[in-house]
Amino acid sequence: MSLPSLTIAQAHEKLKKKEISSAELTKACIDRIEKVDKNLNAVVHRNFERALEEAKKADAKGVFEHPLAGIPYLAKDVFCETGIPTTACSNMLRKKDYIPPFDSTTTKRLKAAGAISMGKANTDEFTMGASTETSCFGVTKNPWDQTRVAGGSSGGSATAVAADECLFALGTDTGGSIRQPASFCGCVGLKVTYGRTSRYGVMSMASSLDSIGTLAKTVEDAAIILQAIAGKDPLDATTGDVPVPDYLSTLRKGVKGMTIGLPKEYFIKGMSPEVEAAVRSAAKEMEKLGAKVVDISLPHSSYAIAAYYVICPSEVSSNMARYDGIRYGHTSDKQDNLIEYYIRSRSGGFGPEVKRRIMIGTYALSAGYYDAYYRQAQKVRTLIRQDFEKAFQKVDCILAPVAPTPAFKIGAHTDDPVQMYLEDIFTAPINLAGLPGLSIPCGASKEGLPIGMQILGPQWGEETILRAGYAYEQATEWHTRKPALTSPEQ
Ligand code: GLN
Repeated sequence: MSLPSLTIAQAHEKLKKKEISSAELTKACIDRIEKVDKNLNAVVHRNFERALEEAKKADAKGVFEHPLAGIPYLAKDVFCETGIPTTACSNMLRKKDYIPPFDSTTTKRLKAAGAISMGKANTDEFTMGASTETSCFGVTKNPWDQTRVAGGSSGGSATAVAADECLFALGTDTGGSIRQPASFCGCVGLKVTYGRTSRYGVMSMASSLDSIGTLAKTVEDAAIILQAIAGKDPLDATTGDVPVPDYLSTLRKGVKGMTIGLPKEYFIKGMSPEVEAAVRSAAKEMEKLGAKVVDISLPHSSYAIAAYYVICPSEVSSNMARYDGIRYGHTSDKQDNLIEYYIRSRSGGFGPEVKRRIMIGTYALSAGYYDAYYRQAQKVRTLIRQDFEKAFQKVDCILAPVAPTPAFKIGAHTDDPVQMYLEDIFTAPINLAGLPGLSIPCGASKEGLPIGMQILGPQWGEETILRAGYAYEQATEWHTRKPALTSPEQ
């Protein structure tokens, strides 16, 4: 087995026994990136020299107590790290090559655990999108079929994990951006409860929806990473002051006695029959493992996309205001007066999707329309949250598809933003409700493309979904499939 294809748990064992060094492991990932990433385009900033130095330091210290010590990873290009370009894959920050003078809480916690940061992974511009096509660095390819998208917005992170360019990657999920690319690329994506992880130092998209999470090769690895990054942060007032359980100690408890709900609104006309069949057969597997599977209803699900695409752009329009060419961002050189200066800087820095959201959001928040759009959307959000609360009185977790289809072709939705927005139909409701969701591989299409399912839990219920995901993973083989990466240079 090649070094970059090891899981965190496997690599940790080898590091502890001194069978491999962190420098060897890191170098093997760097070599892999150099070999496959010309085509895949998952990695947008390379921090290799520093990564190797850190790895050598870890080897010299020789203590690999923490499961993440000496483990190389990539962060989505919105996580600030001291001294490393962080651009949100936007010309707004790329043109000036923004270099943060501080660390996000998450990368800081990983550093404290001894993990090795190798660089930045591609994302849709400011994480707005479902395909990584809006990145100023160009699209990330799906490692299973390079004519298809990797999903988005954490497409770079998902491709990098699936193609063994790193052992794990960080992502963000505002409306599905961890779970959907994980599903398209065949890896494990964990979106946590809103407030379980800190958003400090991660460039915001929509502050009431954003959550910081991971892309990994196995459920166990996801639990290891979560253990290191979860918990209250004084620098983010929205993090919850709730105890962080020991995820690894309950991981192997199985699903016997659990009740799992199948929501009828998540199996709809127009979705791929292959996706539906894969998720239904996963539910059967869960039954075999001892869970009770019951049909449930989340009646307001069909309003989620409409509500999300009012609330999300509203928050985007406010968060993007700081990129004005003065506080942050690209500066226009032709400046006649202040207003002209703002207009030129913002028009030149932002791409079309970001501009579209700023316009929708500003409109929805304007005095005359606030009640008609923003307030209504917030009411719908409450109804969606209540649907889940009611459901979780009866079930321990919910099983659902992640996306209506497997990975689509590059360019398929570029001319039709609404089609792209509909990609989030099964993922956005969970962000509106602030709940955790775990995306894991559960099948393959006729063409061999990965299919994922999500296991959803109640607030702070990461323990339950990891446990259910782990039980399923142990009983099936889907997570062991690897893309062939057959292009001539590979
Ligand atoms: N596709 C969704 C959007 O474009 C989700 C993005 C995300 O989760 N960052 O809003």
